[in-house]
Amino acid sequence: MAPKRYLFTPGPTTVPPEVLAAMAEPVVHHRSPDFRAIYSECLQRLKQVFRTSSDVLLFTASGTGAMESAVANLCSPGNRVVVVSAGSFGERWIQIAERYGCEVQAVRYEWGETPSADDLAATLRQASGARAVFLTQSETSTGVVADVQALAAATRPSGAHVVVDAVSSLGAVPLDVDAWGVDVACSGSQKALMTPPGLAMASVSDAVWAPEGSSSSPRYYFDWDRTRRAQEKLDAAFTPATSLVVALNVALGMILEGGLEQAFERHRLLGRACREGAKAMGLELFSPDDDSAAVVTAIKAPEGVDAAELVSQLRDRYGVQLANGQAHLKGKIFRIGHIGYYDVFDIATALGAVELGLADLGAEIERGVAVTRALEVYAEGARV
Ligand code: PMP
Repeated sequence: MAPKRYLFTPGPTTVPPEVLAAMAEPVVHHRSPDFRAIYSECLQRLKQVFRTSSDVLLFTASGTGAMESAVANLCSPGNRVVVVSAGSFGERWIQIAERYGCEVQAVRYEWGETPSADDLAATLRQASGARAVFLTQSETSTGVVADVQALAAATRPSGAHVVVDAVSSLGAVPLDVDAWGVDVACSGSQKALMTPPGLAMASVSDAVWAPEGSSSSPRYYFDWDRTRRAQEKLDAAFTPATSLVVALNVALGMILEGGLEQAFERHRLLGRACREGAKAMGLELFSPDDDSAAVVTAIKAPEGVDAAELVSQLRDRYGVQLANGQAHLKGKIFRIGHIGYYDVFDIATALGAVELGLADLGAEIERGVAVTRALEVYAEGARV
């Protein structure tokens, strides 16, 4: 028999049974009253999760679709843009912007470093006339969660639009779109929003809709204006992935019912338990050793261990899916995602699996302490 499967990656993530059950309901027509009611509720709930009174546009795409839509709708060829990049997803912004003919000025960091608002402010003072600043809230490749509030504040004097990749962070760590002056935030369904992959969202501030806000870049499916007008009438521009919208609506209802602040606190605590457990085993963290790292814990593979081998053996032998490092970090780090439908018992399972897997590979680790330490830290935090 194949081993039982555990999905502990920073996306896609495990989906609650209520959400899976919603996916199994009969398909509804996207222009029927049945669907319109759900569509409307889902769009309203998205606004609450993004903490915005502006529109949240919903696309059938993965998160990168929302990111591409931001570049296509905001930037014209030749526009100067600034990208803050400290990992794989910061680099994605650079690639998309270059593909659309933007003149990209990158504020680049070593992977694993935390971006600084002062560096961004200094770059913006030089790069006058920047049309937009592209940020990554949770850099999933490294585990670093950037201070978007400070980075948005540093952008404000320049007048550039603030665009945030919140694909792995929305619903896991605070993002206050309106209060922080975020013009566009992009996300996807398959991370902390506890829904299968396939839906992308972009919140778009009122400032962006001004007449001068329009760009000359070509676009069709991802044209924001068309989608906004369609959503206003609850008459989707194209056939949406209706079953996914039904599922997302259930997941958002669960998140909002539990409370966003409570969700953020749970993620902080799970991150803390994961870090302390890993350290107790004798492992060294790659992601920051503080509560900002609430999305994914990145851990250095111990001496002599290839992280890729650890990840594949945990999957094949124990059914536990973790994530390898990306690009030059492949084989060097492994990542435990703890977002969405995730609790302390998942942390215990993930750490238990890492302990077994590393022991199988002959690594020198301390046995029998990681799970105990993680549970202790969780219990201490949960009591506060
Ligand atoms: N940005 C970040 C921070 C991500 O974690 C991901 C997915 N790993 C993406 C963008 C891309 O999203 P998708 O794979 O849904 O296109």
